[in-house]
Amino acid sequence: MAQIYDRVALIGLGLIASSMYWAIKRGGLAKEVTGYARSQATRETARGIGLCDIVCDSAAEACDGADLVVLCVPVGAMASVAAEIAPVLKPGATVSDVGSVKKSVISAVAPHLPENVHFVPAHPLAGTEHSGPTSGFAELFDNRWCILVPEGADADATAKLRAFWEAMGANVETMDAEHHDLVLAVTSHTPHLIAYTMVGVADDLRRVTDSEVIKYSAAGFRDFTRIAASDPTMWRDVFLTNKDATLEILGRFTEELFALQRAIRTGDGEMLHDYFTHTREIRRGIIEAGQDTDAPDFGRSGTKAGE
Ligand code: NAP
Repeated sequence: MAQIYDRVALIGLGLIASSMYWAIKRGGLAKEVTGYARSQATRETARGIGLCDIVCDSAAEACDGADLVVLCVPVGAMASVAAEIAPVLKPGATVSDVGSVKKSVISAVAPHLPENVHFVPAHPLAGTEHSGPTSGFAELFDNRWCILVPEGADADATAKLRAFWEAMGANVETMDAEHHDLVLAVTSHTPHLIAYTMVGVADDLRRVTDSEVIKYSAAGFRDFTRIAASDPTMWRDVFLTNKDATLEILGRFTEELFALQRAIRTGDGEMLHDYFTHTREIRRGIIEAGQDTDAPDFGRSGTKAGE
């Protein structure tokens, strides 16, 4: 595959950045990739496993001369990183991010950036419950969606970033930030909150039933525990920054739950059957759209999940 950027800087070296690095290398998409992580320990690990061509000791050093800078830190850290790198950004460079929330990231990052760079926010809908520099793999984005939120950004810079994500294996869609945050609240953020809650409830119960919950955990609950193992910092930031959309969807969820609760209480089998028939149709639609695939076993316990 052809090289798309000369120099790419990855700021934050966790699951997403490390997967990007391996995907960039797989496709030969950049001449050089620099990287930076906040802690010395992560930088040492990255150097040890050959993650990035150069691992720098400051974000500014990593971004100096980069044609594409991708912010791969938790959503709550985007503003401070943007402020730190702004003075060294190359005129004409593209700055992007991979944050799971878009409205708040745009308002946190955009004010810090000089006018002579292009800001094209992005969000790859791919992840696992694992985090850190050793958790990445080149195939993470294969056949997954990456949503670009260009909102008035330069068309050439946007087209180049689109080509870059496509070359990393993703299918690319554009959306406005508000719509992105609502869609993700439905498809990812609220389901994660429900998984966290369900595991919390089961943990309470476990104290009563003395470990039966774990012993007999079948697929449904095991899936909840996998999702609820996702990174606490990342998910704290997602809920704090996608507050409105998450609360809106949680409100609707609660209403549906009450309706089902009522059907169970009143013995309304027809309502329950109709409801489950409808949800089964939704699942079939997802399968037909090819969006139900888990990652093959890349030697880790994690499965690929839409994020
Ligand atoms: P991760 O594996 O936990 O890695 C986060 C990286 O950010 C680490 O290198 C960490 O450095 C660095 N970092 C944390 N706080 C920082 C701060 N205050 N200043 C500077 N650097 C900081 O995270 P990830 O899963 O790759 O997620 C990164 C971003 O991608 C997040 O915005 C998340 O919303 C988004 N995202 C995640 C997923 C997913 O499923 N995981 C999917 C799509 C998008 P240290 O290691 O030195 O602490």
